[in-house]
Amino acid sequence: MTSPTRVAGEATTCELPKYNPNQDYYQLYWDLYLQNENLMASVCNESCITDDLVADCAQIEMFYDDNVEKLSSERYLHNGRKRHNRRCADELEKDFICPYEACNKLYGSEGSLNLHIKLKHNGGNKTDREKIAKSLVYANAKGLNLPVEQLTQQLNLPPKIVYTAAESVGVDLDSKVLKSLEENLRKQNII
Ligand SMILES: [Zn+2]
Repeated sequence: MTSPTRVAGEATTCELPKYNPNQDYYQLYWDLYLQNENLMASVCNESCITDDLVADCAQIEMFYDDNVEKLSSERYLHNGRKRHNRRCADELEKDFICPYEACNKLYGSEGSLNLHIKLKHNGGNKTDREKIAKSLVYANAKGLNLPVEQLTQQLNLPPKIVYTAAESVGVDLDSKVLKSLEENLRKQNII
């Protein structure tokens, strides 16, 4: 019996490995499986560390914002000078504005704004917020009755979220309906 010989220059990249009767494939399978498990665990671990760091950053940012506001108003109150409305260069680059009333915090990225909404306003994460808003829009467009109370119990949804959701899913609800949905949400949030 002749064994197949490899021709010089033949492409080897797509070739299946030859069966080797001396190789313990079962062992090899488990080795790879465990290596893969370890890799997945470390990816998971790294992503947890990243999440923690991003959350820390958001909290530092919030702390900084609150104190800058407080300190600058105190300073100007003490020496009687008019408070400047000029924003520093750093702030001018921040164009993600918090949608909640009377907050107006600015962030440099959507991620930081979302964290702020989650931590400061109990608005949950972006996906959950949008899911609820879109469900409301769909339900209303199809004449279904959704339990708004249940949907919004846990989260303090930002104003205008129903408008945005209607726009993004291309459902054309009239302004009266949108307004009543928003008001309904607002009522839930105040409680
Ligand atoms: Zn805010």
